[in-house]
Amino acid sequence: MNETPVHDVLIVGSGVAGLSAAIYAARADLEPLVLEGPEPGGQLTLTTEVENYLGFPEGVGGMELIQHGKEQAERFGAEFEHGTVEDATLEERPFELELSDGDSLRTRALIVATGASARWVGAENEDELMGYGLSTCATCDGAFHRGDDVLVIGGGDSAMEEALFLAKFADSVTIVHRREDLRASEVMARRARDHEKIAFRWNAELLEIHGSQDEGVTGATLVSHPDGYPTEKLESGTEVEREEVDVGGIFYGVGHVPNTAFLEDTAVELAESGHLETLEGMTTETAVPGVFGAGDVMDPDYRQAVTSAGTGSMAALDAEAWLEEQAATDSHTRSIAEIEADD
Ligand code: NAP
Repeated sequence: MNETPVHDVLIVGSGVAGLSAAIYAARADLEPLVLEGPEPGGQLTLTTEVENYLGFPEGVGGMELIQHGKEQAERFGAEFEHGTVEDATLEERPFELELSDGDSLRTRALIVATGASARWVGAENEDELMGYGLSTCATCDGAFHRGDDVLVIGGGDSAMEEALFLAKFADSVTIVHRREDLRASEVMARRARDHEKIAFRWNAELLEIHGSQDEGVTGATLVSHPDGYPTEKLESGTEVEREEVDVGGIFYGVGHVPNTAFLEDTAVELAESGHLETLEGMTTETAVPGVFGAGDVMDPDYRQAVTSAGTGSMAALDAEAWLEEQAATDSHTRSIAEIEADD
């Protein structure tokens, strides 16, 4: 017999979606367990100021918002543990999750709030130099680049934010974007454009990173093509322009990929992008009854702290309703069995 205790609600992920789900589930007396993965607190812990979260007219630090959220969830009885889910068995209930350290967890309802992790661009040497002058987090590593010339790869809000943060330390910041139009919001794009230390390289991509783990990043090979997407052009045999640049640091700001690998062999449906698919309509339910999705892992479109908090609270409410339904069905089945036994 499996002796592992069964939780009512297990929330995988401790970013803003997981925390919001934890607050709601804990207030409903479901005593949720929150599993904090390899990036506890999620993406907000890597951001500086959050200016668009409701209720903070002066903005709020990402880390501060997450810390307050965790304290709020703990106040109502949510428990936190560290662990990374490797595999999920969802065909039978209670669900069973295997963790990378060999432990397992069992739960009646599962809320997947695993968020998304920084995407890499696929440049040569990135495996070797990640953490040695190549980074996906300016707030974590920016201060190491005082006086350097640095590159930021990407054209969305993340790239603008990285560049603006790096401009506090670096001598110059060049945003390398693979086409001519930014994906970033107008306000962020304007701030980057107006900054005296920030320049743009349009229609360009990073092909190779130079340096070593001893000396760090020393330079890069960029490719460019006037019609954009130069690496695609290069792969199809079109001539592109190459340029070697000397830089002391490179930061990736090219978006995120959802953390759903552990769901690949389950009946939870995943989109081509890897995002967890919820059922149609305003719900966080998935194709597996009792499994719910919240936050960036199920949202390829909005991806805001405030929308993640919203779907987190929805997932907890959906899980609570589902558990109540299950309890009612179970007690109905039990009473029929008792009547039949009496007969
Ligand atoms: P994003 O909006 O998806 O932008 C990713 C950028 O990286 C795009 O410009 C994309 O180019 C480029 N890119 C993707 N793969 C690439 C590759 N292999 N090589 C080179 N370039 C590549 O992602 P994000 O900037 O992380 O933003 C995600 C969401 O978070 C957005 O909703 C954003 O508004 C929000 N966010 C907000 C803030 C803020 O308001 N302070 C800060 C960060 C993020 P293409 O444009 O050509 O596709």
